Order: sequence, then C-alpha cells, then structure tokens
Amino acid sequence: MSTRQQQLWANFSRVHSKIIGVATHNARLLPVSKLKPSTDIQILYDHGIREFGENYVQELTEKSKELPDDIKWHFIGGLQTNKCKDLAKIKNLYYIETIDSLKKIKKLNESRLKTFPNDKIHCLLQINTSSEEQKSGISYTDIDTILEIIEYCNDTSEPKTVTFDGLMTIGSLYESLADSDENKDFKRLVDLKNFIIEKYPNSNCKLSMGMSNDYETAIKMGSDQIRIGTDIFGSRN
Ligand SMILES: *Cc1c(COP(=O)(O)O)cnc(C)c1O
Repeated sequence: MSTRQQQLWANFSRVHSKIIGVATHNARLLPVSKLKPSTDIQILYDHGIREFGENYVQELTEKSKELPDDIKWHFIGGLQTNKCKDLAKIKNLYYIETIDSLKKIKKLNESRLKTFPNDKIHCLLQINTSSEEQKSGISYTDIDTILEIIEYCNDTSEPKTVTFDGLMTIGSLYESLADSDENKDFKRLVDLKNFIIEKYPNSNCKLSMGMSNDYETAIKMGSDQIRIGTDIFGSRN
C-alpha cells in the first residue's frame, strides 16, 4: 500500500471507530472530498466506500465522469437555482443536502424529469440553526417554508423525482468548540425533526449533522450522518 492509501484508510477507520464507540444507532460516515483529487476518492472506493460528499457543481460533474458510476454522490454545497439543471444531469446523484427554497427544489424536479426521471434524488433541507448571518439555509424559525417544501414533496398529483428525507445543518464554530455534551444548534435540529415527525408520522426525517470538529456530540445527539472532510483527507488550505 502507498503512504496515501495507508493514511486515508487509517483516518477513515479512526473516525469510524469513534462513531461505533458513541453511537447507539446506525450512523453513516460520509467522507467529504471537496478540493481533493479523484485518486483519494478511488482509494476509499477500493476499500468499499461508495458514498461521498462534494460541494461544487463543476467539480462534482468532473469527478462523477472519471470515477466509477456506482458511487452515490451527495451534493452538500451551496445550491444556486441556475445550477440545478447541471446537478440534474449527474445520474448517480443520490442526495442533495442543501435545499433551501421551494423554487430550487421545483427547478430540480423539473430538470430531473428531463434527464433521469426514474432516478430519484433524496433531498435534505438545510436549516440555519445558529442564526449566523453568513450561514445559508432556512431559518429554524421559518416553519412555513419548511412545511411548504415537505408538502410539495409529498404531493403526488404531479410526477416527482425528488423526495423529502430529512434535515441538514452546519453547527456554529462557537457551539462546536464549547466544552459541552449538548450543542444548541444540533438541539434545534432535533427539535425540528420531532415537530415534523409529529405532524407527518409517516415521514422519513434523517438528520445530517456533525463535521470534523463536532461529530462525536452530533452522534450522541442522534445524528444519522456525519460529514467528514479534514479528519479523513487532511486540511484543504
Ligand atoms: C466542507 C464541509 C464539511 C466537512 O468539513 P470538515 O470540517 O472538513 O470535516 C461538511 N459539511 C459541509 C456542508 C461542508 O461544506
């Protein structure tokens, strides 16, 4: 094995063991490979990993062409309406975790109907739980927008290529560095999930929360998926 192979697998295994150590439920470890070369992704792929997170539409498009087509891609970057069309062209796009408006999910649905109408895209709503101005996402207090998008997904009167699968958040740095077992931003996401489940008991509502700085707390608080870049691939500079 090359040094890079050893390093990446050791990093992945270390994070994975920590998850196993604290989780009482199944949680997915999603490697976030933005700005890292396809060769890094291929190394983890060769170890059996099939899901990866990417942030930039152009970069994801290129990587999806050069890497095996059984990779299930997660788009976790800022979503722009005019990029929905390009995203819809990526056949094995599995999740979009950054839906923040009805307009964008409608655009995505429309575009996907023209490209791969039988391949559904799982959608998570990005929620701004920290109220930081620079963070994107729907404010956790904007219940109307959140319910409007869920109802759009649930409405089967027109063809749908998008499904509502849950919520995603990026916790504030302040909360992730606080020496506490409870992260207030994650708590807000958990509360929102409970509210949604109560309103739509049949709804699937997974939580994508936790990154390199705060994933152990996130798992303890019930996260279904953590998104790890730095702790697996190293810093991005
Ligand atoms: C970059 C990124 C990550 C990974 O962050 P690390 O701190 O490097 O683990 C996770 N989620 C999102 C939305 C990101 O943009």
